[in-house]
Amino acid sequence: MSPEDEISLQIKDYAKSLGFTDCKITRALNRPKSAEFYKNWLDQKFHANMDYLVKHQPLKANPKAILSDAKSIILLTLNYYQKRINTGQNGQIARYAHGRDYHKVFKSKLKKLSQFINSLNPEANCRFFADAGPLLERDYATQANLGYIGKNTMLITPKQGSWVLIGEIITNLKLTYDKFEPTEHGICGTCSRCISVCPTKALKSDYTIDANLCISYLTIENKGPIPLELRPLIGDWLFGCDLCQEVCPHNFRQKETGEPDFVKPIAGTEIDLVEILSMTTPSEFLTKFAGSPVMRASLAGLQRNACVVAGNLKSAKCLPYLKKIINNPDQSEMVKEHAKWAIEQIEIIHQT
Ligand code: SF4
Repeated sequence: MSPEDEISLQIKDYAKSLGFTDCKITRALNRPKSAEFYKNWLDQKFHANMDYLVKHQPLKANPKAILSDAKSIILLTLNYYQKRINTGQNGQIARYAHGRDYHKVFKSKLKKLSQFINSLNPEANCRFFADAGPLLERDYATQANLGYIGKNTMLITPKQGSWVLIGEIITNLKLTYDKFEPTEHGICGTCSRCISVCPTKALKSDYTIDANLCISYLTIENKGPIPLELRPLIGDWLFGCDLCQEVCPHNFRQKETGEPDFVKPIAGTEIDLVEILSMTTPSEFLTKFAGSPVMRASLAGLQRNACVVAGNLKSAKCLPYLKKIINNPDQSEMVKEHAKWAIEQIEIIHQT
């Protein structure tokens, strides 16, 4: 066994002991075709208002722009699948956001793995990222043979379907590389369930997504109003959306995550809309969601979403809270406008 083989195996064994679902390694090569695909996607403005994705463009398929002597990328996945309870009365939370913020959980494991690599070779230089990194991580994960990208634009893995988070360590160590195995007809074949199920038609048949239409974008990254024509299509999604994953046949055999930080609920699977609509101060929001990915939406964003869901569910119990919002001089104009919209949706139904 070569020294590269030995250290690569030690890294994979340690990754397993940290609870990672899978760990594979690929060369830190430039990927010009992927860079071009990404540029085309940006040129079509499919990134919506996520300007950081434009800033990341020079780095996305160029690991040496991140670490000048990069030789290897260690790709890791972490299972976050949990059952979702939907009583039909509340706002739904995407599965990845039920518990503690995955960035924190993932990064703490990546830090331990990087320290372990340094203990094996003090010359090792490691840069690690969990999801928010400036690298086309799904692309490199495919090269590392962790899985394939599906029409829902997710990495689909053999063990856990797409219910995985991805992170990576870029290092200057030469390691042993996993071999990419191409599929003849892609992972999806003739299936197009995710494209059909998406209420806002955000997914295209060419393996791209228009974030301007994606419910996850609209309810999380979007800081402005939700376009009127899209509001009824958001249904009961309060934060994020899992629809394109729930219908995927590769996701039917998934196992539940054993990650304690994901299992212990902060946001939980669904939230009473009244609890969100009645919040009046950022400190109430912080008390409820500290450490949760839901913090990303901000109080105003989550209340905007709660208005949309209340309107879609025709929730009579939310009416007094929506009316309080419009009469609150300290409330943002954006949330007030969504509250007015919700009241109209609810009153139309209750008058007929
Ligand atoms: Fe591919 Fe079908 Fe899964 Fe979509 S639902 S990612 S088309 S296999």
